[in-house]
Amino acid sequence: MKQNIYSQAAQKMNPNGPTPQSQPIPGKTMVQNAAGGYVFEVDLWQRLDRFLILGSESGNYYVGKQQMTEDNAKNVAACIVADGKRVVDTVVTISDAGRAAKNDPALFVLAMCASAENVATRKYALQNLAKVARIGTHLFHFVEYVDKMRGWSRSLRSAISTWYTDLPDDKLALQLTKYQSRDGWSHRDILRLSHPTPTSENQMLAFKWAVDKFHQQKDKGSKNYNLDAYAQDLQALKEKLPLIGAFEAVKATDDMREVVHLIEQHKLPLELIPTEKRTHEVYDAIIPNLGVGALIRQLPTLTNAGVLGEVGSANTKMIVDKLHDMELLKKGRIHPIQVLLAYATYKSGKSFRGTNTWRPIQKLVDALDECFYLAFGTIVPTGKRMLLGLDISGSMSGGYVIGSEQLRPCEVTAAMSMVTMRTEQDWVIKGFSTYFCDLGISPKQSLNEVMRRVANLNFGGTDCSLPMIYAEQHKLPIDAFLVYTDNETWAGKMHPVQALKSYQQKMGIPAKLISIATTATNGAIAEETAYTMNIAGFDAAAPNIISEFIRG
Ligand code: CA
Repeated sequence: MKQNIYSQAAQKMNPNGPTPQSQPIPGKTMVQNAAGGYVFEVDLWQRLDRFLILGSESGNYYVGKQQMTEDNAKNVAACIVADGKRVVDTVVTISDAGRAAKNDPALFVLAMCASAENVATRKYALQNLAKVARIGTHLFHFVEYVDKMRGWSRSLRSAISTWYTDLPDDKLALQLTKYQSRDGWSHRDILRLSHPTPTSENQMLAFKWAVDKFHQQKDKGSKNYNLDAYAQDLQALKEKLPLIGAFEAVKATDDMREVVHLIEQHKLPLELIPTEKRTHEVYDAIIPNLGVGALIRQLPTLTNAGVLGEVGSANTKMIVDKLHDMELLKKGRIHPIQVLLAYATYKSGKSFRGTNTWRPIQKLVDALDECFYLAFGTIVPTGKRMLLGLDISGSMSGGYVIGSEQLRPCEVTAAMSMVTMRTEQDWVIKGFSTYFCDLGISPKQSLNEVMRRVANLNFGGTDCSLPMIYAEQHKLPIDAFLVYTDNETWAGKMHPVQALKSYQQKMGIPAKLISIATTATNGAIAEETAYTMNIAGFDAAAPNIISEFIRG
């Protein structure tokens, strides 16, 4: 307390001097972070971006997931009151560009907009449903959220009906078969609630199949029992909705040659094949049909199935090629953090809870390592001198990234900084807590190696001004400071923006500070100025947003 009074007095004597992080900078509006330090408060819209990109499901070192979600929901509500249309547009932009590792926050915010007081906002949110809920699973998540926020009025039923009736027949068949249920919701439940009016005979048949009236026709106990009608519908499915027809045929036959033939003919995804029919031949036939996202998720299963050889394997080669295909990654909205998670899991040879184990194939581990970088797309190098400062204080190992229960924020920041190290020529990377240290990492190392090294260094208090102070003390010429942090800085004798100003003046370099947030709090170490920028860290677009800001 006494210390506090003295430093406040010292501040009054020298208003332009440094302010300890335990106090706000005089004349600036600052808020106290969870660690007790003062930081700037990001505006409503920046916090919305953070929530959409970083999510809230793991909380962080200081705040549990419940509190983190409530805080962000309050912020979303305030955004909706301020400008509902802008919220929906933001959700659509971020979701559609595949910038977030998970689509759930986008679906949650869209559900909030669809439940808003303002009629125009509700309407606009529902009009944009299909742009955010792009597959059946997304629709189930949206329904799970919206069901708790509002009633099933005509407008909601109509929007959900349109989601189905706007799909062309082949896409409708795929959605109905591939994503049958999730979170306790199935197409059958949703079709019964929304009750769409089919726009064609094919749609009528598809809905009849999805709500199970098709199968009831061969069930003696059912009031819909009618074997002739069943046979007729089965024939119609084969002709009009061949994917659903093939799905029924796969279930009905024990002839594995026929199953393989159906897979090849209809490009069936893995989800349509019952587990007991997934033989070697079936896997061989299905691997060419799998998208990159499915391949990444299924690598442990495919490895255990014994269909991916270590050498001389066409399947392994095909998968490696797909993981290296930037166009495919872009088209499939493959997010680098999802790749990183798949990489960490696959390399470990066991599922998170240890119930499933496999022997990882090194070629595929390496392909995922490379895929992480490719999933960021083409990054424009700045050619500038950079200092990458990684917050390695204890709080950076608190919470998990995107609810993975596996990747800690400090590990992901290490991987993210590898992207810069591989793109740029002239940089130095350091870690900081209340002291500054070497990390011993290099772009020649594997992701696993750098994540392990940084995770092992994780402890201590936090002072986000250290990168600038260090550079000034050592007269390092730096054009841009990239600081990865949870913004829970508190221990420094001055604020990071003051350290930047001092660096700029002493060195005569108009250096920039980019603060890269790892959790969706309201705090930031900098205001938005020509020299400073705050962004949400685990954004697929982050490297290019940073590059653009540094290039000016
Ligand atoms: Ca900390």
